[in-house]
Amino acid sequence: MADDAPGGGSPLPNPGVGLGSVEKYPKELAWQTRPPYRVVSRDEFGEVKWKGGCHCGRVTYEVNREQPLKAKYCHCRGCQVVHGAPFQWAAIFQKSDISFINGADGLAFYASDRKTTKYELPTKVSCAYCRTPIMDEGRNMCLLFPGTIHFGDSQEEQDAWMKAFEISCHIFYSQRSLNILDGKQKWSGMDENSDLVDDYGKKV
Ligand SMILES: [Zn+2]
Ligand SMILES: [Zn+2]
Repeated sequence: MADDAPGGGSPLPNPGVGLGSVEKYPKELAWQTRPPYRVVSRDEFGEVKWKGGCHCGRVTYEVNREQPLKAKYCHCRGCQVVHGAPFQWAAIFQKSDISFINGADGLAFYASDRKTTKYELPTKVSCAYCRTPIMDEGRNMCLLFPGTIHFGDSQEEQDAWMKAFEISCHIFYSQRSLNILDGKQKWSGMDENSDLVDDYGKKV
């Protein structure tokens, strides 16, 4: 990071100089000016397909895409510990599919790779007050936690939510806390990059 700090010796002019957003934000906070933290107008964001937020209500967000690119359960130990849950349920979205209503305000970050609460990618994003985990922000994508989506009170609405965020596979199944007999694709580690296993973790 040091090499792209202001005055860090780069001979190239900073293309951002003169832009209001850059002048207003110190360079280390420039991430707040891009999705999903940049506050966008309704017109720009488009039709809202889902709304969600944390338990205490301080953090709210909107999603402009009906279905994630992919949804999965991650059974890795890191997810078990950080979520205090048997596994993590994550739905992959483009960053521009999501918009935090209060921008970056009220959010807390934890980059588990480096064990720091400084904003560094990839990072876990939660409510700074009630600590509800909201998503993992990667370098290119966001892994939103569908448990934080608000759906209506009717069974139809619940069914729609279940269908939209239904998983296509399990990952890091070798570290699981329970067997899940759903017949879905299961990877011992990362998807597409580890062994396929059955519901009981046996290599297939
Ligand atoms: Zn909260
Ligand atoms: Zn995991």
